[in-house]
Amino acid sequence: ASSEDPAARPKVFDPPMLQRARRDVRVESDLREALDRGEIHPVLQPIVDLSTSRVCGFETLARWTHPVHGPIPPTHFIPLAERSGLIDETFAAVAGAALEGVSCMRRECGAAVDGDAGLFVSLNLSKRQLRDAGLPARVGAAVAEAGLHPHQVHLELTESDVADCREARVTMQRLRDAGFQLMLDDFGTGTSTLSGLHAYPVQWLKIDRSFTAEAARDRRVAVVADAIAELARKLGLRTVAEGLETPEEVSMFQAMGYDGGQGYLFAKPMRVAEASAWLKEQVGQAERPGLRVAA
Ligand code: C2E
Ligand code: MG
Ligand code: MG
Ligand code: MG
Repeated sequence: ASSEDPAARPKVFDPPMLQRARRDVRVESDLREALDRGEIHPVLQPIVDLSTSRVCGFETLARWTHPVHGPIPPTHFIPLAERSGLIDETFAAVAGAALEGVSCMRRECGAAVDGDAGLFVSLNLSKRQLRDAGLPARVGAAVAEAGLHPHQVHLELTESDVADCREARVTMQRLRDAGFQLMLDDFGTGTSTLSGLHAYPVQWLKIDRSFTAEAARDRRVAVVADAIAELARKLGLRTVAEGLETPEEVSMFQAMGYDGGQGYLFAKPMRVAEASAWLKEQVGQAERPGLRVAA
C-alpha cells in the first residue's frame, strides 16, 4: 500500500492533523519553488484621501497562485514563509515589484501625483521581520533601488507583532529615523490597546475592516470609531479606514474625520500593470489636475 493509503497508517495519529502536516510540508517546499519561479507577486489596492477624494497611495498585498492548489491566501503563506525562513525572500519578491510599479506610476503621472503628499506605497511587515536588526538596511536598499525616498513608503505593522518585544521597538525606531512612515494596522481588533496609540513610534493608524463594517450597523461601534479618530487627531496621528464597501460607510468615516479610506468600493487589489492603468484613468477623468475617485 502507498503511504497515501489511510488504511496503511497507524490509527493513533489524528488524521486531520497528519494531513495538515503533510500539506504544509508540501506547500513549504512549493513555496521555495514558487519563489524561484516568480509565482509570488504583489497586487496593489488604492488608498483614497477622504477629504479630497484623490488617490494618495497604494497598499501592497502578497499573492500566490499555486499551479495545483490555486490561490493560496497570504494569511496562510506569510506565516508559512516565516516558519520556513523564507520571509525575506517573500518580502523581496513582493516589495521589489510594488516599489518599482509605484515609482513608475509617479513618473508617468507626473504633476498629478506630485502634490504635497504625492503617491505613497505601503508595505506590510510581519513579526519575524520586525525582530530582525538587518531589516531597515534591506528595506532602505530596495526603496533606493526603485528610485523612491523612504518618506514615500509606509510600513504597516500590527500591535500584536510588536507588543512586548524590545527588538521590534528598536527596529521601528530605526525605520522611523530613516524616514519611513509607520502605520499601526488592523487597529480595533482583539490585540489593540489604547496605549498602543502613544506607546509606538507610528504616524498612522489604520482601523480594522471588521470594525468598519460593524460601524455602519451598530451605533455603539460608530461612537468608538469616532472616538478613535478624535484621539488619533489629538495625538497627531493620521487615520485610514480599511474595508470600505458602501457609499454610506465612506460618508460615515469621512464625517468622522478619517484621513484616508481603502476598500472594494474604490477598487479591489489589482496587478501592478492593472493598477497603473486604473490610475491613469483616474487622472484622465479628473476635471482639474489630480486624481479623483467617485465614492
Ligand atoms: P491587511 O494588511 O489588513 O490587508 C487588508 C486585507 O483586506 C487584504 O486582504 C485586502 O484584500 C482586504 N480588503 C481590502 N478592502 C476590502 C473590502 O472592501 N472588503 C473586504 N472584504 N476585504 C477587503 P488579503 O490581501 O487577503 O491580506 C490579508 C492579510 O494578509 C493582510 O491584512 C496582511 O495582514 C497579510 N498580508 C498580505 N500581504 C502581505 C505581505 O506582503 N506581507 C505580510 N507580512 N503580510 C501580508
Ligand atoms: Mg495592511
Ligand atoms: Mg489591515
Ligand atoms: Mg487585516
